[in-house]
Amino acid sequence: MFDAILIRYGELFLKKGNRNLFINRLRENLRQKTLGLDHVNLTGVHGRFILESTIPMDEERAATLSKAMASTFGLVSVSPAAVCASEREVIEERAMQLAESWLARNHAATFKVACSRSYKALPFNSMELNRSLGAKVATRFNLAVKMTEPHLVISLEVHRDRTFIFLDTMAAPGGLPVGSSGRAIVLLSGGIDSPVAAYMMAKRGCALDALYFHSYPYTSDAARDKVLALARRVAYYHGPMTVHTAPFTPIQEYLRDMIPAEYLVLAYRRSMMRIATALAGRRKAGALVTGESLGQVASQTMENMGAVEEASGLPVLRPLVGFDKEETVIIARKIGTFELSILPADDCCQLFAPTHPATKSKAQILRQIEAHLPQLSSLENIALDNLVTETVS
Ligand code: ATP
Ligand code: MG
Repeated sequence: MFDAILIRYGELFLKKGNRNLFINRLRENLRQKTLGLDHVNLTGVHGRFILESTIPMDEERAATLSKAMASTFGLVSVSPAAVCASEREVIEERAMQLAESWLARNHAATFKVACSRSYKALPFNSMELNRSLGAKVATRFNLAVKMTEPHLVISLEVHRDRTFIFLDTMAAPGGLPVGSSGRAIVLLSGGIDSPVAAYMMAKRGCALDALYFHSYPYTSDAARDKVLALARRVAYYHGPMTVHTAPFTPIQEYLRDMIPAEYLVLAYRRSMMRIATALAGRRKAGALVTGESLGQVASQTMENMGAVEEASGLPVLRPLVGFDKEETVIIARKIGTFELSILPADDCCQLFAPTHPATKSKAQILRQIEAHLPQLSSLENIALDNLVTETVS
């Protein structure tokens, strides 16, 4: 039985003089995560957070709570722990109980006790506790002490009023607390790349709104549901996220009728950028995020990226720009978006477009083309006025 989850954050990012800002943000993000969990109480002491359970916590509940907490950016690791009074007999008894139930589930031949004491005025020191608990564990469970890479580590953190005992540590994703690095709009499609791009920017502390361009009926409602499902996966890490769906069909039909097919993909993209930039203004976002990777497809050559980016008034962040597809797929699998992304769905960018778009187009050509599209900006405004906005979590 456990009493609490120990929640550790990285200290590296705290050196920038923003310590309180980061910790308050982290606390708020953790609190958000606890809203969906019953019978818990979040506190912060000793340079970490503690999620206490007000009902008995067995292995299963400990795993659920650990997992929920460990999905928070800014954390390095979490451990289910027993919490007890800082008295030697009590500590040893609780540690023996934990070890016993751990050994019922795991095989071990070697172990060590690792004790740290923040309060030095207790009537026993770390050495003594290591030794006496170590002797008991060795005898009772027939284990050998091993200092390097033992199978079982019994960790004790002894503070003045209470002691934490833990045996397992689950890695958390690191990064910065979401919301500590401003807000950005991620252009979220149903593909493999953009959900990973969203995850990576959230990991660096970016609060995100997602924007999806929907070309109904050319792209089906199933395609939109897929994007919402992907947004939910991202929200598992990010926290609740606002998703905007922009009706894109009239713009695409207009462009199809008005411009050479070879420029369609880039013209769609530039339109997306302008709409996203306007939305960013409303949402006080400072950047756009896409899943582009250099040279991945014809529309992602350096020149074409430049031609598209020029239409945005904001920095366009491309966290995957130097990734091979395989590297993106590894993250997509890890965060649980891959299985959804590969479900078949239509892609609006291919709509009406040739299989071989212009790969050497220039921003200048696109500007000239757009100069002869009198209705384009009002169509973009209509798309903005008809955004469908919802929150996923
Ligand atoms: P993804 O896997 O993210 O779909 P992709 O490799 O298919 O990317 P493109 O289709 O060229 O590449 O799209 C490049 C980027 O443009 C996407 O990563 C995404 O950020 C944005 N994008 C493309 N289509 C849409 C859309 N319908 N709605 C929102 N953003 C889009
Ligand atoms: Mg795509």
